[in-house]
Amino acid sequence: MGKTILIICDGLRNDTAAQQMGFMEHLVETRRGTRFTARTTLPTVSKTSYETLHTGLDAIDHGITGNFVTRPSSSPNLFKLASQYGLSTAASAYYWFFELYVGLTYDPTLNSEHDNLDTPIQRGIFYKADSMPDDEVFARGANLASVKQPDYLLIHVMGLDHASHMSGSDSAHYRNQAIHQDQLLAQFVPDWTEMGYTVILTSDHGHTTDKQHGGTGEEVRNVPLYIVPSDGNGLGETGETVSHLSVAPTICQIMKLPIPATMAAPVLKFSMTSAASGNSYSVGPNSVAPIGMFPDSFSGVAVPADGSVRSQCSLSDLGDLNTRSISTN
Ligand SMILES: [Zn+2]
Repeated sequence: MGKTILIICDGLRNDTAAQQMGFMEHLVETRRGTRFTARTTLPTVSKTSYETLHTGLDAIDHGITGNFVTRPSSSPNLFKLASQYGLSTAASAYYWFFELYVGLTYDPTLNSEHDNLDTPIQRGIFYKADSMPDDEVFARGANLASVKQPDYLLIHVMGLDHASHMSGSDSAHYRNQAIHQDQLLAQFVPDWTEMGYTVILTSDHGHTTDKQHGGTGEEVRNVPLYIVPSDGNGLGETGETVSHLSVAPTICQIMKLPIPATMAAPVLKFSMTSAASGNSYSVGPNSVAPIGMFPDSFSGVAVPADGSVRSQCSLSDLGDLNTRSISTN
């Protein structure tokens, strides 16, 4: 394990994935992959959730509290962490990711194709139209994976969110778009695991029959979380509900990156060989994972028990350290 592709299927409900995504469920049924139900944080809106997935923080802590907040990420995040530890990053994604992690106002004339090794997203192909075909976004992601071979690659498709805003989540339009995305995944995921990638798929939020999201109902808070390890040794359907806050520290663990203290939720166990600090997560008023200190700049090294943490950066590059330790039971 090491290299990771995170796929965010924007607006994908948990029940829709279970019923319509036959290829992804095939990976679960044959235990090539692992499936959780993921509980999103609040509010269930896109930009907030993008930042939560990349920082392991709740909205009130990372500050991207809604879609109208336009400032870049100021918290320890996967792109910045990977870059600082000498890993390569790339994205085929909506332009909000450019604004969050490159840190500039998006100008399609200048930024739709991005290549700058000095920015947290080093290479990217970005789009602005919600109607952007998923086929094109996956194809561009596949191109980045094959040609640039980044250590961390984000692929973010908007087709399901767009379908439900148009037709609602109880519609043939929405369900058929889920089937279409699943067929694209069937085309690409086997190649990516063959290339050594662990593939993680989740959504930023679900969707309602009112063609919207943002509230607290089960249909918007519950989304799928599939993890397909590169060695094909998944755990199948776990039956567990886990927090979205666990995605970022789990990706750090896969990529052998230090886990910042701000990523305090449990690392998920998703294969017979993956280390984890426990998947237990109870849904309720006391279910919010404790967060660590919230440093001005993230830094530091949490050393796994096998001592395999990345060491491309010297500690002096990172300033004051504040990271967490993890167990490997
Ligand atoms: Zn969204």
